[in-house]
Amino acid sequence: MNSSIKSAFAAVVFTAAVLPVALPAQSAEIMPLIDAHLHYSHDAWEGLPPKDAIAALRRAGLKKAFVSSSSDDGTQMLYKEAPDLIVPVLRPYRKRGELGTWFRDPTVINMLDGRLKKGGYAGIGEFHIFGADAGGEVFRKVFQLARKYKIFLHAHSDADAVDRIFKQDPAATVLWAHSGFAEPDRIRAMLKKHKRLWSDLAFRSQHGAGGKADPDWAKLFAEFPGRFMIGTDTYTPERWYFVEEHASWSRTWLRSLPRELAERIAWKNAANLSNWA
Ligand SMILES: [Zn+2]
Repeated sequence: MNSSIKSAFAAVVFTAAVLPVALPAQSAEIMPLIDAHLHYSHDAWEGLPPKDAIAALRRAGLKKAFVSSSSDDGTQMLYKEAPDLIVPVLRPYRKRGELGTWFRDPTVINMLDGRLKKGGYAGIGEFHIFGADAGGEVFRKVFQLARKYKIFLHAHSDADAVDRIFKQDPAATVLWAHSGFAEPDRIRAMLKKHKRLWSDLAFRSQHGAGGKADPDWAKLFAEFPGRFMIGTDTYTPERWYFVEEHASWSRTWLRSLPRELAERIAWKNAANLSNWA
């Protein structure tokens, strides 16, 4: 037996010997992730300059990061630093503290339209709107802008407000921030009712408690494989220090799901959300 045949033979024997051991197929690689819920608002800029914020996102191994900020200048600074990584989403807030009043302020519309005209945004949000406020005049103009620019709405809302959005515009694309902080049954009912509703898991932990997908949530994910995505929600500057940990925690619980489903939640659903790619 010459040496190359010998080593080929050895390889076959070796492969046969290890095959019966189930190797976790995903353990050797880093699962790609898109974080669909990040903010880089004015109070984070000084403590964590754009270069450092981008470094944190790179350390987390993110494929893309959806960022919306109060003001949008924060998002633009990150985008300038890393256009390959940042997906800008336009917030209707110029500073912290406008989240309870913005939908009564008509000047918001000009601000949004002025920025959207320049292009490059994947969505409008994350904004806060609840109940009947989603029927107001300013908000109606906001989702008309989303329709005009063919982008999604990132809504931190109760189910009532989400219903009202779709009642006014059945063709809207809505990303439900935090899945409305609702329980799986409520989320299931909403996803069933609204075919163009997507749901982010930001700032929640129950679905992956103990490093495994919770059975109730896993059932929901399997029923709606194309509708969920992950997010950290850096709504305060301190949350930026959690981005990397959140990514590794997400990879851990996602690995307990079937691979194709895990990949959809990890990044594919976010990639398909709108025509930003
Ligand atoms: Zn948020």
